This record gives sequence, structure tokens and C-alpha cells, in this order.
Amino acid sequence: SYTAEILGVGTELLLGNIANTDAQMISEGLSALGINVYFHTVVGDNPPRLKSAVDIARSRADIIITTGGLGPTCDDLTKQVLAEAFGKKLIFHEPTAERIRSYFKNSIRTNNMTENNLQQAMLPEGCEIFENAWGTAPGCAFESGGKHVLMLPGPPMECRSMFINCAIPYLRRLSSEAIVSRAIRIFGIGESAVEDKLRDMMVSMSNPTLAPYAKEGEVMLRVTAKADNEELAVAMMEPVIARVRDIIGDRIYGIDVDTLENTVFDLLKEQQMTVATAESCTGGLLAKRLTDIPGSSAVFKGSVVAYASEIKNQVLGVPKTILEEHGAVSRPVAIAMAASVRRMMGADLAVAITGVAGPAKDERDNPVGTVFVALSAGGRHWCRALHLGADRSRIRIMSANHALDMIRR
Ligand code: ATP
Ligand code: MG
Repeated sequence: SYTAEILGVGTELLLGNIANTDAQMISEGLSALGINVYFHTVVGDNPPRLKSAVDIARSRADIIITTGGLGPTCDDLTKQVLAEAFGKKLIFHEPTAERIRSYFKNSIRTNNMTENNLQQAMLPEGCEIFENAWGTAPGCAFESGGKHVLMLPGPPMECRSMFINCAIPYLRRLSSEAIVSRAIRIFGIGESAVEDKLRDMMVSMSNPTLAPYAKEGEVMLRVTAKADNEELAVAMMEPVIARVRDIIGDRIYGIDVDTLENTVFDLLKEQQMTVATAESCTGGLLAKRLTDIPGSSAVFKGSVVAYASEIKNQVLGVPKTILEEHGAVSRPVAIAMAASVRRMMGADLAVAITGVAGPAKDERDNPVGTVFVALSAGGRHWCRALHLGADRSRIRIMSANHALDMIRR
């Protein structure tokens, strides 16, 4: 069954000016529906803190119900923050705008409608709109990556009536259907390129849905299917995944897997192979990521961090002539590092990374972000030349990602 988190938004709740009666009312209703409420959270009208509360809530609940912050004033930011957190655009919804206009026309209130009030007609794309019988701020609900977000207004009367009239029917429909979601993990092609290749598929499909997310130098593609039961949802998903495999090919490194390093670890373990690494500009990051995995000693031999040129020569035995002729950041040096560390450590495979992580270009005028990653296996070697932009931390992460990707292949 589903789990829910109720996220109260409003500084006045934190200040103790009011009690969180909305959460109490909603909890009562959810338990009647058989939905397990695991957390009540309260956060102020502060976008970054709201964002982090949302990130936590989505990691531990299927359903997030927010209260408050839907109104027209500038501290009402719930919709903006939630939409952004789930990668949805806010779209102007004319029927809602019309409702707001007529609310002001018909109300005995003398104050005129301001442009702010029309802000409330901006709603997350693809959402279901919850009409507000007692006020102007509509609520809404959407699904994203198998998670459901429902947003209700703060004032208790409005919250209660919208919960009963709109949220409960929405939640009832949910529990009668199964939602299955898979994460396809991709490395070696950017988010926009993935989107480009899959655009036709994405726009023509509504169930299952397909949504790409960028994630630390890689792309996660989420496929979500809804059906009357789980088996059916899984079956609907299969042809979609097969199509994606056809289009994206072997840049897909796994489905519902953890990380690139985990994939590499599983592969090496399965084939009873070992790996060694030699790192320059990543300073041991690759070794760190591989050894983060419990049990990594079965596949990981060790690493040499050879940062200075003379260490590449003295410790790894990269010939001085190669270093002098090509410079430390070069294809021949990367290959020599990999070959040498593989021999030294008696590993089946070795990868080496040498590059310019910044802040300035190297003495050979290689721009920041120039990186060579080499793989040595048996008597053979491969090398990738990369241009990774100027951000030091990104250069290091991406270099390690490429090294892992090369091992995987
Ligand atoms: P409005 O359109 O009235 O601004 P809103 O959705 O933006 O509605 P808030 O501005 O966050 O809601 O809160 C409006 C009022 O609703 C608060 O001042 C408070 O009196 C009440 N309220 C907000 N949250 C809760 C809650 N969790 N429990 C009880 N009352 C609440
Ligand atoms: Mg408000």
C-alpha cells in the first residue's frame, strides 16, 4: 500500500502562531483510505528549505501532500518549488484564470483583482486541477516518476473541502491501479541528446511515460506505467524499454542499478576479473568510488596516484622520453600508465587517467578539461581523449565516469 508524507508549508506554523490542524485532518482521511502516513513535516515559506524538505519527502514516501503557500502573495511559493523539484513547467491555465476573474466580479469584496491573483492560474504542466470552492487558489495534483504530489491550500476550510472533494477521489483512483517505474541509466550522451533521440516517442506516449533527468554527468531515463495490476504495467513497459534500447544502444549501462561503479563491480565479479587504476588529475577519486562498494577487494587490486610528472616516471615507470616528447597529459602517457599499473599489480584490467583539471592550462597549452583515459587489458589498450569544460569538480567526476564506462565495455 501507499505511503504518504504531509508537508505543511508556512512560517506561521513554525512560529507557533497556529497549530497544524490541516495535517491532522488529512492524516485522519488518509488512514481511512488505507494510506500509511509516515511523516508530518513542517517547513517555512523559504524556497531552498522547502526544496530540501521535498527531496527528503520524495525519497521516503509515494505521496506528498502539501498544505499552504498556494495563495497570491509573494511568500506563496509551493507550486513553483514543487513544480521545479519534479521538473515540471508552470503553465497558464485560462479556465482557472477565468474562474478567478469571475470570483472577484461576483464577490462582495470591494478590493479589485490584481495581477498577483492571476499568478494562481499558473499550474504545473499535466496536473489535475483541484478547484477551490471557498477561495481563489486552486490546488492540484500530478504524478512524476511514480510519485504523487498533491497541493492543497492552507486555510482550514479550503483545505478540508478540497481534500474531501478532490484529493480523496484522486487517491481512491490511485489505489485501484498499479504503478511500475524503472530507471534506465545512461552514460556517454547528454540529456538533450537523449531527449532529441526519444522526442517522437516521448510526445506520442502518455502511458507509459518517459522522462529524462540529468544526474552528475549521466542521464537517468524514467519509464513509468500505470495499469490495473502490476503484471500488466510491467508488460506495458517492456516494449518501451526495448525501443529505448534500440535507439540509445550500449550507452545504457543498466536498468534499476545503483551507479556506474556498482555496475562495473558486478560485471568484474561475475567474470572473476580484477582491476587496477593509475590516476593523476582525479587524485584517487576513481579508487575511492570503487572501494566505496562493500566487497570491492574481490575485484580491486589497488591504485597509484601519480600526480607529479616525475612520479609518473619514478613510481609507474612511464619512460622519461614519452613524458618529454608528448607531455604528461597525452595519449601515450595515459596508455603507459595503464599498462604499467596493470603489470605492477597483476590485474586483468587497468585504467589510467591523466588530464588538466584546472585552474589553468598546462605547460603544453592543453586547455582545462583536456583528459586522456586509457584502458589496458591483455596486450591491448584503448584511449579516450576528452574535453570536459572548465569546472574542476565536474572534470574529475566525468573523468572517473569515463574510466568506469571503459571498464564496463
Ligand atoms: P491564501 O490564499 O489564504 O494565502 P495559502 O494556501 O497561501 O492560502 P497560507 O498563506 O500558507 O495558505 O496560509 C493561510 C492561512 O491558513 C494561515 O495564515 C493559517 O491561518 C492557515 N493555515 C495554513 N496552514 C495551516 C495548517 N497546516 N493548519 C491549519 N491552518 C493553516
Ligand atoms: Mg498565502
